[in-house]
Amino acid sequence: MSPKLLKIAVIPGDGIGLEVMPYGVRCLEAAAKVFGLSLEFEHFDFASCDYYEKHGDMLPSDWKETLLKFDAIYFGAVGMPDQVPDHVSLWGSLLKFRREFDQYINLRPCRLMPGVKSPLANKKPGDIDFWVVRENTEGEYSSIGGKIFEGTDRETVVQETVMTRVGVDRVLRYAFNLAQSRPKKKLTSATKSNGISITMPYWDSRVKEMSSSYSDVSVEKYHIDILTAHFVQRPEIFDVVVGSNLFGDIMSDLGPACTGTIGIAPSGNLNPEGKFPSLFEPVHGSAPDIFGKGIANPIGMIWAGQMMLEHFGFSEAAAAVLKSIEIVLGRSDLEVMTADMGGKGNTQTLGEAVEKEILAFK
Ligand code: ATP
Ligand code: MG
Repeated sequence: MSPKLLKIAVIPGDGIGLEVMPYGVRCLEAAAKVFGLSLEFEHFDFASCDYYEKHGDMLPSDWKETLLKFDAIYFGAVGMPDQVPDHVSLWGSLLKFRREFDQYINLRPCRLMPGVKSPLANKKPGDIDFWVVRENTEGEYSSIGGKIFEGTDRETVVQETVMTRVGVDRVLRYAFNLAQSRPKKKLTSATKSNGISITMPYWDSRVKEMSSSYSDVSVEKYHIDILTAHFVQRPEIFDVVVGSNLFGDIMSDLGPACTGTIGIAPSGNLNPEGKFPSLFEPVHGSAPDIFGKGIANPIGMIWAGQMMLEHFGFSEAAAAVLKSIEIVLGRSDLEVMTADMGGKGNTQTLGEAVEKEILAFK
C-alpha cells in the first residue's frame, strides 16, 4: 500500500510557516532514518505573499503539473494581510489546491496530549481522542443562489445546499473506514434533520444505507446543536465524527480547541485515492503577530507530518512520531516548551526536543 518512495512538496508559505517548517521536515527525516523510509523533499517558495510581490501571482502558471509529481504537499501557512489581502492569498493558493486536487476530506485529530491543559475542566489525556472528518467540496458551501427584489423591503437572499450521492458517499465511506480501523469502531454522524428537511434527511439516509456494509461499526447520529455541546461536556463518547461542509467546519475548529493551544493541532486535506496529492498542514495560520521572534510552537507542523506518515501507511513511524510528541509535551519542561504553552523555550528548543526523541526510537 505505502509508496516505496514518498515524494513530498514542501511549501512553507508565509509567516511562522517559514519558522516551523524546518522542524517539521527534520522530524520527518529523523523518522525516515530510524524506520528506513524513503522520503524525498523538494522545497518551493510559491504560495507565499513574497512570491506574490515578485511575480504578481501566488502560484506559477505550471503549478499544477509541478505538484502533480508529488504524493503529498507539506504546507506551512499562507497569508500576510499587510502585504496581500487574505482573499487573494488564500484563494490564490491553498483553496486552489483543495479544489483542483479534489481534496474532499478534511481530517483533524482531537486528542488531548499529556502536559497540555484542556480548557475543559478535569479532562486528562485519553478522555479526548477522536477524529473529525469534514466533507470539503460541496454541501452548504455551494455558490448557487442569489438576491432578488434588491433594494426593496422584499429583498431576499437564497443560497442552496448541494449534496450529491457521490459527494456524500465518498466522505461517509472514508469515515466508516477510519472508524473500522480503530479499536472503538464507532462513528458519529452530525445532522440536523429535525430542522433542515431535505438535505439532512438525505445525509441520514446515506449513513443508514452505508452502515449495512459496516456491521462492525456502531453508528450514532446527533443533531449538530447537541453534538457540539457534547464536544464540550462529554468528549469521551466520540471516536470518529463525520459532518457536512458547514457542520464539519464548526466541529473541526471546536474539537481541537477543546484540546489546548492552536499551536499544536494538525489538519489533512485528503484525496484518499491518491489521484491527486493530499495536503498536510498545521491548523494555525501565519500568525504575523509573532512572526520573526522564533517563538512559534512547531508541534502543529510536526504533527501534520505525522498525519502524512499515517495516511501513507507508515504506521510504525507515525506511531513513533506521535509518541515522541507526547513524551516531550508530557515532560512539561518549561525551558523547552514555547510561550503559548507557558514555557520559556522557543521553536528551536521544542522542535529539536521532538526530533531527538524520534531519533531515540532506534
Ligand atoms: P488565519 O488567517 O489562518 O486564521 P492568522 O495568522 O490570522 O491565521 P493564526 O495563525 O490562526 O492567525 O493565529 C491566531 C493567534 O494564535 C496568533 O495571533 C498567534 O498569536 C497564536 N498562534 C497561532 N499559531 C501559533 C503557534 N504555532 N505558536 C504560538 N502561537 C500561535
Ligand atoms: Mg485569523
